[in-house]
Amino acid sequence: MPSFYRLSRFNRPSFRVLPLQSRTSLHLRAISTTPGLQNKAGSRDRVAIVTGAARGIGRAIALRLARDGYHVTASDLPALQPQLDSLVSEIAATGARAHAHAADVTSPDEVAALVRTSASTLGPLHTMVANAGIAQVRPLLELTEADFSRMLDVNIGGVHRCFQAAARQLLSQGPIQEGEEIRGRLIAAASIVAFKPFALLGHYSASKWAVRGLSQAYAMELAPHRITVNAYAPGIVDTNMWELIDEGLGKIKGKGKGEMIKKYSDELIALGRTSVPEDVAKLVSFLAGPDADYVTGQTYIVDGGIIYT
Ligand code: NAD
Repeated sequence: MPSFYRLSRFNRPSFRVLPLQSRTSLHLRAISTTPGLQNKAGSRDRVAIVTGAARGIGRAIALRLARDGYHVTASDLPALQPQLDSLVSEIAATGARAHAHAADVTSPDEVAALVRTSASTLGPLHTMVANAGIAQVRPLLELTEADFSRMLDVNIGGVHRCFQAAARQLLSQGPIQEGEEIRGRLIAAASIVAFKPFALLGHYSASKWAVRGLSQAYAMELAPHRITVNAYAPGIVDTNMWELIDEGLGKIKGKGKGEMIKKYSDELIALGRTSVPEDVAKLVSFLAGPDADYVTGQTYIVDGGIIYT
């Protein structure tokens, strides 16, 4: 049995689905003694883990979920610990509880430790946001084996490790609470390139296409356990990642800094502005909240009108 089962206070694996009418209030309460936070999203005393939270979209998601009433474990690579610490202070100032835990999503052990530590620090898990990801601009014919493997290891392997560890944790926490329809939520970062690839971002596009497929498969297998699984698909969001893409595309196309993101935004985005991380956080807030109880297996685009489904 994996060690996190032994360490969990909620050490009652429950792999069966309880009929709605037979749910009891046996579910143990969170370790948290903080008075319940509650807002319109109805996320009182729930705990979310957000990976890739030190900056960009992940940071905006962590802040938004805290505003929604979640307690948040913010995770990222160890090198970004100072940014994680400052995020945790910012969340704590809102009255939510927060915890920083560095983990590399390419390591199953580190991801398992992240989930275990979150549960022992903030209480039972409710939502995993597998947001961490990398991008690389390189023509397909120039990709090395290492480029390709690294992309898949972080972007799709990372989502799988986070989903698997989170689902195991959710199932170890016992029956779902009385009156709840959903035991927990798994949410992953896909992209519009999961619907139509960008040239020169071929392996990145393939990895995000895989996130969409894997989320659907997880949704099918976890629906009987009352866990929903969805993904968000941002367009062109002004973050460090797009700075890197802008620079990479600019080198190949002979353009200066900022020219490619402006060109793509001007030519592709119907709503006429580059996205900001908060645009994506709003969608994740919906997917993590009770209004999405009946939504699973979906990848939602939030791109200001680039891709139409
Ligand atoms: P970002 O580069 O600003 O943030 C990504 C974060 O992931 C960083 O903090 C980074 O340290 C972390 N990370 C990278 N590898 C990791 C690893 N192995 N383990 C743990 N953490 C790791 O990028 P962002 O724009 O905020 O992107 C967030 C997510 O949204 C990514 O999955 C990205 O692919 C996706 N996305 C971004 C855009 C965009 O336009 N920026 C569009 C579509 C999808």
